[in-house]
Amino acid sequence: KMATKDKVFVGSIDQGTTSSRFLIFDEQGVPVAIHQEEFSQIYPHPGWHEHDAEEIVRSVESCIEGGLKAFEKDGHSKDSIKAIGITNQRETTVVWDITTGKPIYNAIVWTDTRTSSLVRELKDRPNSDGLQEICGEAISTYPSVSKLLWLLKSQDKVREVYEAGNLAFGTIDAWLVWKLNGGPETNVFVTEPTNASRTMFMDIRTMKYSDKLLDFFSYEFDLRKIHMPQIVRSADTKAYGQLRSGPLAGFPITGCLGDQSAALVGQKGFEAGIAKNTYGTGCFLLLNTGTTPVISTHGLMTTVVYDFDGTPVYALEGSIAVAGSGVKFLMNNLGFSSQSHKITELAETVPDNGGLVFVTAFSGLFAPYWIDDAHGTMFGITHHTERGHIARATLEAVCFQTKAILDAMEKDSGQKLSELRVDGGMSNSDLCMQTQADLVGIPLMRPKMRETTALGAAIAAGFASGVWKNFDELKEVNVTGQTVFEPKMDAAASRKMFRRWEKAVMMCRGWLA
Ligand code: ADP
Repeated sequence: KMATKDKVFVGSIDQGTTSSRFLIFDEQGVPVAIHQEEFSQIYPHPGWHEHDAEEIVRSVESCIEGGLKAFEKDGHSKDSIKAIGITNQRETTVVWDITTGKPIYNAIVWTDTRTSSLVRELKDRPNSDGLQEICGEAISTYPSVSKLLWLLKSQDKVREVYEAGNLAFGTIDAWLVWKLNGGPETNVFVTEPTNASRTMFMDIRTMKYSDKLLDFFSYEFDLRKIHMPQIVRSADTKAYGQLRSGPLAGFPITGCLGDQSAALVGQKGFEAGIAKNTYGTGCFLLLNTGTTPVISTHGLMTTVVYDFDGTPVYALEGSIAVAGSGVKFLMNNLGFSSQSHKITELAETVPDNGGLVFVTAFSGLFAPYWIDDAHGTMFGITHHTERGHIARATLEAVCFQTKAILDAMEKDSGQKLSELRVDGGMSNSDLCMQTQADLVGIPLMRPKMRETTALGAAIAAGFASGVWKNFDELKEVNVTGQTVFEPKMDAAASRKMFRRWEKAVMMCRGWLA
């Protein structure tokens, strides 16, 4: 009689910018249970964006409960869950008191631009140009460091805890792992390279905090006085501890990846030359460049995709600050609709953008432009302009920026991409994906199962805990049912469209100067 192998599952916590999720994947990478909850977006002033760090933890705990309930309702037993992975919004900065576990300020979200004047000061300091060579990114409002420095400079309470030697700094992964492990009782305080590389504190070649970087940023406050998480591998059976409470108390956390790295892993971008673009709240294009980091000279960042076994794999990354959040803006601020897919339907009511270009620079422009003081601007409004054009121009803004990033990637890597794997909420929009294919001139592959970020974290956790042993075992995962978008637009028309966008970018800077 053949022994029937028991089915095993991997849980995945996906802590995103607008919502938290908990998914449970089977060995074929199929999500068998999912629970999602949105949490508060706090915008105290223009350009400021915060989250309540405690609410984030509560939302994660509640998602675990909800997801597990769905899982058990389907007749599964929680004992078949082998491990739990975490993926998270990156750069978002949490400061707390290591003795009490209480956050001292709201989490400052990655999109936040309150530090733009501080960033200008930092850029003017001697040797600021040399930092990118070490950490893979240039100074901007985006990495965690300026957010942490702002908190130290401007918040008395943060300084007080710092003076007392109790200030803890972490990105969302470190905060979550620390909290889920029981906080000060166990003090499991770790991060991993894909998250740590987004702080500007880590040397991307050694996977360790860099003295040069810490010295550079310690001109006013001694950053070594702050408790920072230990950098461990992205897959590890011990370092991340375990859940301490809730229905999965005692279950181990064995993997962690920042959301964009997780998406590339979830798209099985294990080899150099594979690229993915995730159209979520923001939009993030990552190209796997293999085991040696490529430092960009065209406005991209160098980031870590994963470090599973001590051989880190790198990517060139281009980030776009506003993607799905532009769609949300049309819904929430302009009252265009109450559902995202209706924005796409609205965009489909017009045959083209009618000459309208919308530079959705609500938090400046990120890659490859890096214009901190760019402002949201619409060009080409006429009597002919209707809501459909605005909806269309909002979707197109993301496609244009993606095209600019792809061009930069080809220059930096010396490689011509042959296809682009896509995912994220906004990739649900066929119109947006077709426009994208038309603009970049290569096919887009959209998998049927779009929870690739969560899948990536499950893969990290599953590797550590032996659910999967090598990349080959994942070959068949999420392959059937993918949609391919082939470029259809005439190349000259596509170029003309893009030139107009570039002109608009030239004209959107310095509005409030
Ligand atoms: P995140 O993980 O960053 O929270 P998601 O990947 O869940 O984001 O993507 C959500 C975003 O995708 C939202 O901003 C939403 O408005 C947008 N979105 C979802 N479906 C569509 C659609 N059919 N057309 C346009 N935008 C969409």
